[in-house]
Amino acid sequence: MSWLLIAFSSLLVFWIASLCKIFHASNSPSFSGDGGALGKRNVLLVIAHPDDESMFFSPTINCLISNGHNLHILCFSMGNADGMGKIRLNELYQACAVLKVPLEQVKILDHPDLQDGFGQVWNHNLLEMTIQEEIMSHDIDTIISFDKYGVSGHCNHRDVHYGVHMLVNDTPKRNIEVWELVSINILRKYSGPVDIWLSKMFAMQYPSGVMQCLLNEHPKRSFDAMAQHLSQWVWFRKLFVSFSSYTYVNTLRKVNK
Ligand SMILES: [Zn+2]
Repeated sequence: MSWLLIAFSSLLVFWIASLCKIFHASNSPSFSGDGGALGKRNVLLVIAHPDDESMFFSPTINCLISNGHNLHILCFSMGNADGMGKIRLNELYQACAVLKVPLEQVKILDHPDLQDGFGQVWNHNLLEMTIQEEIMSHDIDTIISFDKYGVSGHCNHRDVHYGVHMLVNDTPKRNIEVWELVSINILRKYSGPVDIWLSKMFAMQYPSGVMQCLLNEHPKRSFDAMAQHLSQWVWFRKLFVSFSSYTYVNTLRKVNK
């Protein structure tokens, strides 16, 4: 029994030390780690459902906002799988207010061919065209979205990834950087802030500029943002947000350069 106590105590100490590292990082992480040579970016975060931004991308959002980048969010559905689309739409706006994303820069679609649900297959051409329109409208120079597993494996997340990839393949010479959120295994996914060390080691294995590891400067803000999604704020999502490493760190991989 004593070894169990020792293991639990060690984990607790490691957890607290990791949180301290996040709260006391000497400098706020800067997007791309290139010393800001590109100046302020016009970023488009492409997601599938209201709550993706708070559950998965909040370290990235907090980093972009605190570094003064101009962030737009394109959400491809209202999250109407359970008939609560209109409620969830408003919840996304409320979460974005908490995350300090300008609400006029949040676009939520309700397209008949892009409805929330596991049985729904989203047309990649339609996704590509819609993203293209957003790029033109807002002079976007950076896109951030899901990788091919889509963090949770949800088919809508994966379709969004393939829509973004289609855009990259169709316009390879375009001067737009595309980054994808790296999906991690289940052990790391539920290791909370402890995963910051593994994420950093993982990112260091790649050449400079290919990966970036963004620590969340404001995990409490992420928790508050997720709490705005009241229709989704059930006990297991409260646990998810507390224990998910995506609340504390995002690893982004550059797709196209
Ligand atoms: Zn989702």
